Amino acid sequence: TLLQRRFSMLLRVKKLDDYYVHVVVGVIYKISIQCFILVVDSLLVVQMNYSRFLTSVSAARETSPIRALTAIMLKSPPSLISLAGGVPNVNTFPFKKASITVNDGSVVEIGEDLMRTALQYSSSQGYPALLSWLTDLQKSCHNPPTLNYSPENGKMDVCVTAGSQEGLSKVFDMLISPGDNILLDEPTYAGTLAALRPLRCNIVKVPADNHGIIPQSLKDILSRWTPGDPKTPKFLYTIPNGGNPTGISLSTERKEAIYKIAREYDFLIIEDDPYYFLQFTKPWAPTFLSMDVDGRVIRTDSMSKILSSGLRIGFVTGPQPLIERIVLHVQTSTLHTSTFTQVMTSQLLHQWGLEGFLQHVDRVVDFYRSQRDVMLSSAEKWLTGLAEWQCPAAGMFLWMKINGISDTEKMIMEKAFKKEVLFAPGNGFLIDKSKPCPYVRASFSSSSPEQIDQLPCELKSAPKLAPK
Ligand code: PMP
Repeated sequence: TLLQRRFSMLLRVKKLDDYYVHVVVGVIYKISIQCFILVVDSLLVVQMNYSRFLTSVSAARETSPIRALTAIMLKSPPSLISLAGGVPNVNTFPFKKASITVNDGSVVEIGEDLMRTALQYSSSQGYPALLSWLTDLQKSCHNPPTLNYSPENGKMDVCVTAGSQEGLSKVFDMLISPGDNILLDEPTYAGTLAALRPLRCNIVKVPADNHGIIPQSLKDILSRWTPGDPKTPKFLYTIPNGGNPTGISLSTERKEAIYKIAREYDFLIIEDDPYYFLQFTKPWAPTFLSMDVDGRVIRTDSMSKILSSGLRIGFVTGPQPLIERIVLHVQTSTLHTSTFTQVMTSQLLHQWGLEGFLQHVDRVVDFYRSQRDVMLSSAEKWLTGLAEWQCPAAGMFLWMKINGISDTEKMIMEKAFKKEVLFAPGNGFLIDKSKPCPYVRASFSSSSPEQIDQLPCELKSAPKLAPK
């Protein structure tokens, strides 16, 4: 108010109506504060040195001139006479058009012209219409700060991949040289461990509890390295929502604390978040990407749990200089994710719009939430005192510790399998999978409520099997 009064005097607008003076001065005041915050924030932005993170193979990747030409040709007008391309003639392909019926009765049309595009080679970064839809999705879900101010580090960019698994594998190939230290919380996704092991990195386990990674423990671990030491871990990998196998979600406070530590020790964060859209409560948790002022977060997303796992549509989001490395890798591995599935997905998403997509997400979440509740009440009914578990906050898994059993793999193989029930043994999610583990992962995605109610009965008899 004092400032406003001073401003009013300065502007000599005493004669004007007091109300308008206050509105005008208030707006000027707000704008000045916003500008001040932006200037201070941009001064605080860390200048990222991405070359420190790249393997020599990734750093050596170059654009293929032929692929670059293909990208130009795909955008060229029909009048262009091109003798340059190595693309096949689509007229020789046997498919003409497609109408795909959606569950709600609507139809996704792939007409003759679009079918020609769908059957042809496409850009390595992704079919442009899908890429732009997904980029808008990331902006509206995460509003990454790197979009707004961090030109030094390159803005946010996106690359479509064949599921998030391809994205993860390409991210690991880009960053890990043998002997590199990397951080992750255990237990974790078996597909990640399988991708990491052959890369011969040193996996450093970060302690976690029922709320995910414990920031202080992460800090304690990092104190083994002095800042600037080239052996400092290159990245932290984590599944922030509905962890596979634990179902645990990392709290916002912890994410903020972890991001702060990442800035302090200069490591990247790989946010593997295929269960982001399967969060059981709203509002959805802020992501690492939404906090990323520096451009140190690489996020892998998936349409597998929401649209279809067989379509193989995932996408990697991160700072442009790193996404560029991934695109170059795609150029030499798959050339691109299937154009047909990208066109099919893009048509559906454009037809739905963001609102329609989110309505679909709500329906999917309602299904998984009710499946989770069935499993929780069955577990409570049958397993109280025999096993321990935590309510999953997202995803499709219940992670259970079986009391009195030290090796659930043995139990599953010797007893449960014979009774025609299968659980995932816990050791598959450990860094050292040869270690016996008292946990099992029970998925509530595909079994009927009646079947789910039978599963814990099998576990109920399990403690009797405990090796003496
Ligand atoms: N990350 C996690 C944590 C997963 O659970 C999965 C699939 N189960 C993936 C990545 C890979 O999913 P997709 O390739 O189907 O997107």
